[in-house]
Amino acid sequence: MSRPIQSCVKNPRIGIIGGGIAGATVALCLGELGLDVTLIEKGSSLVNGPPICHLHAGGNLYREISDAQCFTLLRESIDLVRLYPHAVDYRPTVIAVPKNDAGLPEDLLPRLHKLQKEYQHLINKDSKNSVLGASEHYFKLFTRQQIEALKNTEVVNKPQTLTEWMIPFAHHVNLEQLKFPVILVQEYGLNLFRLAASAELALRKITHCSLLVNSEVTNIHALANCWQVEYQQGSEITVTEFDYLINAAGFRTGTVDDMLDFKRQRLVEFKAAYVTQWPQCSAIWPEVIFFGDRGTPEGMAQFTPYPDGYFQLHGMTPLVTLFDNGLVESANHSAQPQLNPHFIEKIDKGWSNAEINLRSQAAIDHISRFIPDFAQNATVSAKPLFGAQQIPGDDAELRAAGVSFVGEFYARCEIVKASSALTVSNKIIKQLIKLGYLTHKDNGDRVFKITHAITEPEITQHAQKLCASRDYPVSLARCNFPQLGH
Ligand SMILES: Cc1cc2nc3c(=O)[nH]c(=O)nc-3n(C[C@H](O)[C@H](O)[C@H](O)COP(=O)(O)OP(=O)(O)OC[C@H]3O[C@@H](n4cnc5c(N)ncnc54)[C@H](O)[C@@H]3O)c2cc1C
Repeated sequence: MSRPIQSCVKNPRIGIIGGGIAGATVALCLGELGLDVTLIEKGSSLVNGPPICHLHAGGNLYREISDAQCFTLLRESIDLVRLYPHAVDYRPTVIAVPKNDAGLPEDLLPRLHKLQKEYQHLINKDSKNSVLGASEHYFKLFTRQQIEALKNTEVVNKPQTLTEWMIPFAHHVNLEQLKFPVILVQEYGLNLFRLAASAELALRKITHCSLLVNSEVTNIHALANCWQVEYQQGSEITVTEFDYLINAAGFRTGTVDDMLDFKRQRLVEFKAAYVTQWPQCSAIWPEVIFFGDRGTPEGMAQFTPYPDGYFQLHGMTPLVTLFDNGLVESANHSAQPQLNPHFIEKIDKGWSNAEINLRSQAAIDHISRFIPDFAQNATVSAKPLFGAQQIPGDDAELRAAGVSFVGEFYARCEIVKASSALTVSNKIIKQLIKLGYLTHKDNGDRVFKITHAITEPEITQHAQKLCASRDYPVSLARCNFPQLGH
């Protein structure tokens, strides 16, 4: 297959396939730099793929990954908060190690200290990096006695101190099940709907950026000096040309690679999280993680709070978040790993009510081992948040991944976590500078004038609209987490 050879064109046309967090963020960064960008998205709105709820500012949910990946996730998360400040749920995460888990809370401490140091280092480099609060408060340990002492303390409406965040935990979690200390860490939430709204509103304001939704790329030809891309909107097929092409098609990145016969090894995994409500619980919770071995009945349980008593649940067991044969790899003849058709049917058409209830109830049961009051009161309140994600290469535990290139004019976004989206953009910008499409001067002062001119109320309003249009309770798009006072 031939590839474009022309390197330097004036006003290059940049095409991006896929408007998830990766494609939307790249479009925003290039658009803010004045490039002519077209973002082509199959769905009716942006950031509409698999869920995102946790920022992973330090990767502390993943005991199995390297320190280097944790540092990368920390740096990338800070950058992402600075780009999308109104998409962040500013609440910390509690990490608890159950008694039946082989690990100890102390095992996490060496890495937490390193992350704290790294965070301080980033603040020293640029004080605007202090988005997670003061580095001395990056994490805090709580003994059983300290938590017991909070049992009779009233919950506060706007927790301001690390200790105040622990009150709902002290009231409701069965402490008998846990090893101590438990750890509170400044890993915040990332709100899918507010992220979608932030990106969509900003992109609509960038005049030389065209946003094509309900548009599916169906074929691509590599011509001598450009990419010829066919996309379909309803029954209408349009053919257009780009000088530089960015494949940001998420778990379908392989289908775009296949259109050009580009080889790439990757994994794809289907997973789901469940939306429940505990209407009697009005307390502002931190996120809570109960560690456990992935894939076993004791797999990690994740309790993610939203306003109005809504909680999103993950359980890393085959009956809750994971699925039999849900992880597949690409074969030699195709860069696209083939998920079983029943997963594709869920993604494209939805779930049956019976499946929603069965898995959501399994998620409630999984969490209720640690929060018994939840079992008494929680109800299934929406369809799951679900989807498939790609992992480049063959390491299913890889969490910090980015971008790969074929030649000079084709990039693929291969993020595993949302926080990597800005790193991807930066690497693509470097390549565009090499090609002469941008100068170092253009890229000198990375301010996001258009993106940061969008106000918080505008984002809330649009996020709620997107949330309702996707049939989720609008509370999931609201933010009632005060920024931590230190
Ligand atoms: C259950 C679950 C929970 C998760 N939780 C988190 C979390 O808490 N934090 C986190 O950081 N990450 C989380 N992830 C991972 C995260 O969702 C993904 O890594 C991220 O969404 C990937 O973004 P993306 O832009 O690469 O892909 P996507 O979001 O999948 O976007 C790709 C887009 O491309 C479009 N597209 C595909 N093919 C075409 C085509 N031919 N033409 C036009 N458009 C096309 C799709 O419609 C889609 O909108 C989770 C994943 C799952 C499954």
